[in-house]
Amino acid sequence: MEHKASDQIQNLQYFGEFGGINPSISDSSTYTFLSAKTMFDTFEGNTEGCYLYSRHSSPSNLYLGEALAALEGTESANVYASGMGAITAVLMQLCNAGDHLVSSRTIYGGTYAFLKNFIKKFDVDSSFVDITQLEAVEKAITPRTKLIYCEAVSNPLLEIADIQAMAALAKKHGIPLVVDNTFSPLSIAPAQLGADVVIHSLTKFINGSSDCVAGAVCASTDFCLSLKDVNQGAGMLLGSTLDSLRAASILKNMRTLHIRIKKHSENALYLAKNFEKDGLRVVYPGLPSHPGFQPMRTQMNPEYGFGGIMTVDVGSLEKANALMELMQQRRLGYLAVSLGFYKTLFSAPGTSTSSEIPLHEQQAMGLSDGLIRFSIGLDNNVERTYQMMKSCMQELGILEAREMCI
Ligand SMILES: *Cc1c(COP(=O)(O)O)cnc(C)c1O
Repeated sequence: MEHKASDQIQNLQYFGEFGGINPSISDSSTYTFLSAKTMFDTFEGNTEGCYLYSRHSSPSNLYLGEALAALEGTESANVYASGMGAITAVLMQLCNAGDHLVSSRTIYGGTYAFLKNFIKKFDVDSSFVDITQLEAVEKAITPRTKLIYCEAVSNPLLEIADIQAMAALAKKHGIPLVVDNTFSPLSIAPAQLGADVVIHSLTKFINGSSDCVAGAVCASTDFCLSLKDVNQGAGMLLGSTLDSLRAASILKNMRTLHIRIKKHSENALYLAKNFEKDGLRVVYPGLPSHPGFQPMRTQMNPEYGFGGIMTVDVGSLEKANALMELMQQRRLGYLAVSLGFYKTLFSAPGTSTSSEIPLHEQQAMGLSDGLIRFSIGLDNNVERTYQMMKSCMQELGILEAREMCI
């Protein structure tokens, strides 16, 4: 049967220590052993179900990991203290000095900076390519290439990766495909389309309340265990461990993810369609004008829609800034980075989340000054939101004021 992530999550059922309907939180950094021999065996990785030390694993983190594995339909999942904690652990685990990787050129600014600047210290090279051009991806692969990296829906340009085709290419060259699915939980299930490792920043839609940072790696049990290995595991040794209290609160928020994603998608589609009709330059994967519309349609789970993120190009940074300030004054949302909140969040990526990318490269990938990224909120009356946003745009001359009817 087809993998239905929301059903799988719904089937998870935990019992807390005293019969609670939420699992008990493991509020401990270390765990006691009744025999010294069991402690030794646990260090050697020979005991199942024993906890050692919470940087390695903890019951609360394992519960959240289980829910994330169910979400992506993978054997296992590890959780981390941030999305970057998850991304850097995976990349450091898969690459040795002298290795090379092929990455999409339109990725999260932090990931881009890590690949372009930081991982160089360890003599790992990256080639940045337009992943919508499969020949370009294949051409960049060399005998030293250890992985292909992309985002299912890219930040901030909303490019859509053809994951099946990319996975086939990775397989042909015997390397893993690593996909960051932060923008499209439930809408796209990369592992079901052939990706080997799926990463999330839980900070965004999955947690959905903008009150913490966290990350996850969903993959095979072997790979997840290798990240935790006490001698060789990047997760274990770099130490970006999620706190148990946070893991417990994220798990509780995940239970409403399916409802939230549907509403984010419904609202974003409504606004994108209407603003496009008004003549604005709107980028949203649910619009037939979007170059990724077809690949998105073939690989998405239609129940959850095209996601909550859209961009609008209002022509200049000055106009973008004025519009964002006005929308915030009118309580339409917050001028803030990040995404997946119940209120709409907006920012100009060129001067914020993608500022790590040099200007000439921003231009080459189509990231213009006047671009505003919207993470559309859960507004109950999106028609009203549309009218209010539209009047802000009219006041600033971004949209022409409506002609008077006589
Ligand atoms: C925010 C984000 C990240 C980084 O996650 P943090 O939780 O902030 O470390 C990675 N990838 C994408 C696509 C993101 O939006």
